[in-house]
Amino acid sequence: MESTLKRTWVEIDLDALAYNYRALRVQMGSHALLLGVVKADAYGHGAVQTARTLEELGAEYLAVSSVDEARELRLAGSKLPILQLGLTDVDQAGVILDNRITQTVWDEASAAAFSAAAVRWGKRMRVHIKLDTGMSRLGFPCGEDSAALEALCRACALPGLEVEGIFTHFAASDDLDGDSRAFTLLQHRRFDAMLRRLEDRGVTFRLRHCANSGAVVNYPEFAYDMFRPGIVLYGVGPLARRLNLRPLMALKTVVGAVRELSPGETVSYGRTFRAERPSRVGVLPIGYADGLHRTLSNRWRMWTSQGSAPIVGRVCMDMCMVDLTDLPDIRTGDIVEVYGPHNPVDEAAGLAGTISYELTCSVSKRVPRIYYRNGREVQRELLLRG
Ligand SMILES: *Cc1c(COP(=O)(O)O)cnc(C)c1O
Repeated sequence: MESTLKRTWVEIDLDALAYNYRALRVQMGSHALLLGVVKADAYGHGAVQTARTLEELGAEYLAVSSVDEARELRLAGSKLPILQLGLTDVDQAGVILDNRITQTVWDEASAAAFSAAAVRWGKRMRVHIKLDTGMSRLGFPCGEDSAALEALCRACALPGLEVEGIFTHFAASDDLDGDSRAFTLLQHRRFDAMLRRLEDRGVTFRLRHCANSGAVVNYPEFAYDMFRPGIVLYGVGPLARRLNLRPLMALKTVVGAVRELSPGETVSYGRTFRAERPSRVGVLPIGYADGLHRTLSNRWRMWTSQGSAPIVGRVCMDMCMVDLTDLPDIRTGDIVEVYGPHNPVDEAAGLAGTISYELTCSVSKRVPRIYYRNGREVQRELLLRG
């Protein structure tokens, strides 16, 4: 059962989560509630453990992207309210009600459908209204015309719905260039104006929220009643760096074998790397099926206790090779860090032409996770159980 742990694994530092949580509380002031975004298995960090830790720390709300993600948290004993942010078919209404999930309604049709379903079940569904202020994804239109206002008033008056909250999502709050700043301020103005117009009609909300990680860092004054950090909780990306947050994830593997190459010999599929000198090459049991993107071939480097070992040749499905020629003390069995505190995933993301979100989310299900708290291992999640 422990065999997968000798291959490739991910260590999750729950103390770093506690540190980040406290820093974000300070950043946003004491009045606003904290909703921890744990969708996509907590961006690859493990939703159950992340949510449990956030709950113990005092978070007030959680958010996920599907009914199944919410159910996973309920089955694991989570008591916090959970906002389901994503598109949901109305045939899930029973599951939403049974699991006390807060559902997002994103237009008049979705509001009417969930209202009718709740009435049929003889229950009230707790919902948050989403406004589209410029993301062009989900949300009621937010125009200055009366049609937009009337649609919202009708939705809020539907039977079977307990309209607890209202929110919007920013498209460019993480960027501080002039254009992005102007657009974020415009989105905020639209949100705020619609809240006022609704208030004038007697429609108010207990939880108004708009701040994702970008706004938490760049516009903490947009806190309203609650803020919704995702990536900064996990301590990766440029926003987390600006607040000196700590990464939770360390993806690790071992040197599985070492081979000597003569000048002219080539490495891996397509022969994209050719040894220029007598070389020592380490073979590592991690590949793109573990979440190491193939676009990092010949680009990324592994951290070792003796220095960096660049990936040479193409990343394969289950293995990749690194150049150990300048690290003569690194041997079979030595541990290397793929991403983590010594080897920032942000830099790998830059080289792969993507963002750190995508790399942490893509650590695959066959990679076991080990959780640490107070510096001690508290849980292992292995692919093969029992
Ligand atoms: C994913 C998501 C968030 C969190 O975004 P981060 O950039 O990770 O902070 C917040 N709100 C909504 C609606 C989201 O979909």
